[in-house]
Amino acid sequence: MAAKDTGRLRKAREIIDIGLALLESGLIADTHGNVSARDADGKSMVITPSRRDYRLLEEGDLVRVDLATGRATGRWNPSSEWRLHAAIYEARRDVNAIVHHHAVWASAVSAARKTIPVLIDEAADIGPISTAPYAASASKELAQSAAAELVRGSNAILLANHGAVAVGRDLREAFRRAVEVERLAKIYVGATVLGGAHPLDDAAVARSLAFFKEYRTDPGERRDSPGSLRGKRWRGGRPGPMMPGWRSLIGRSSPATAGSSTR
Ligand SMILES: [Zn+2]
Repeated sequence: MAAKDTGRLRKAREIIDIGLALLESGLIADTHGNVSARDADGKSMVITPSRRDYRLLEEGDLVRVDLATGRATGRWNPSSEWRLHAAIYEARRDVNAIVHHHAVWASAVSAARKTIPVLIDEAADIGPISTAPYAASASKELAQSAAAELVRGSNAILLANHGAVAVGRDLREAFRRAVEVERLAKIYVGATVLGGAHPLDDAAVARSLAFFKEYRTDPGERRDSPGSLRGKRWRGGRPGPMMPGWRSLIGRSSPATAGSSTR
């Protein structure tokens, strides 16, 4: 198998594992949520198919979509939010992976149409999480609204009355941020109820950015620097979706989420 095909298979496996992790963690339910990664060619993306159960997905079920033309290749239709993903890749060249979910607290803040400021040190790399103006699900307008909001530089946004979008340089980073957005939404609501959320100042944000840049770097990557996390095994820090055994940890089925599928 050519190296290019091996890389695509590995990326497809990561996308499926993230979908399963979102499902098992309760961040998505029923038919909600979708995950994608920019292809190595830079001109297309691989995205979860529409209305397919994550627990039954195989690598060959993912759909390739040309970013310029929207032409889809695969046995299924791409996620109904493929325009949202494509518009973000076109608007942010630094983004290589996107996770979209409808988790409860993030959706609550999106319905209030608020901005979650940087409240916690480890959220410094995400930035303020603002709410993009409302547009209907799966519409071109929603894609434009989200891309315009993300161009401002944050690595996560809320979609008004809908849910959250997190982006990253790779799938692991986008997934970590997607999980973090829901935690931050809870903290924001809690702090607001207790009298008001106090954002970190610029100096605290700068310090946290520097600290977590080092903290989150794979020890192997530091040794081999310069390099990429891509293709390397997780050897320390927080477990991520590429951690060996992740798949068995989260299992393949859950009666509580039976019938869930991609959207
Ligand atoms: Zn959605």
